[in-house]
Amino acid sequence: MIIAANFKTNHTRESTANYLEALNLFLDAYPTHCDVRVYPAASSLLRADLYPHVKLGAQNFYPAVNGAYTGETGAQQLDEFGIKNVLTGHSERRIILKETQDFIAKKYAFARSNNWEIIYCIGEPKDVRDNGFKAVAEYLWAEFDGIDTDYEKLSVAYEPIWAIGTGISAQTEEIAEVLDMLKAELKSVPLLYGGSVNAENLRQIVSLKSCGGALIGNAALDAANFCKLIQIAQNK
Ligand code: PEP
Repeated sequence: MIIAANFKTNHTRESTANYLEALNLFLDAYPTHCDVRVYPAASSLLRADLYPHVKLGAQNFYPAVNGAYTGETGAQQLDEFGIKNVLTGHSERRIILKETQDFIAKKYAFARSNNWEIIYCIGEPKDVRDNGFKAVAEYLWAEFDGIDTDYEKLSVAYEPIWAIGTGISAQTEEIAEVLDMLKAELKSVPLLYGGSVNAENLRQIVSLKSCGGALIGNAALDAANFCKLIQIAQNK
């Protein structure tokens, strides 16, 4: 079970260090079978080996080792921190940063060539959801264009865009329908759900038969709350 915290553009370097320290201490005291991952802002990356119970990851990277890519972070910079897992395809990067499927596929192939663990995010906007499940399925499969799903370090996060950061999670039945569809095709790829996950809805979500974890934004920003979420997943 993967339980992942996406900080987005939140926390400073100092508060990230405090958070990771607290989380690592908690996981030392309460060992878990969960694969716990934290994705801080790029400016707050810390050495991954300082927190042995947590996998530190990058929210973003440029598909190059280094070079003339102003403002971007390449593999050389992630290597310095021992970062070996990344998020790719997040809807905020697709929509706000205008990342195309073609560019996302390039990033994915680069991450794969580096042998990084990847949480690949997909999710439909509200107008597609309003057109029914067939439209949702078509939209989601199109987000796999150029993506090699046979990669053994791949996990997929289903994050309906209308549920991200809105406080309105998808209904358990809606999540189950999509995850079951993905499972039928992707077989052993772990499938996560993301979108307004909190302490009230997590247990039901991670109990779904095709669900292998959660990617959490707002509810994971507080270390104590994230620890509570890990315990819920642990005890489901
Ligand atoms: C996310 O952005 O990956 C996310 C799931 O955010 P939130 O939990 O805040 O909806």
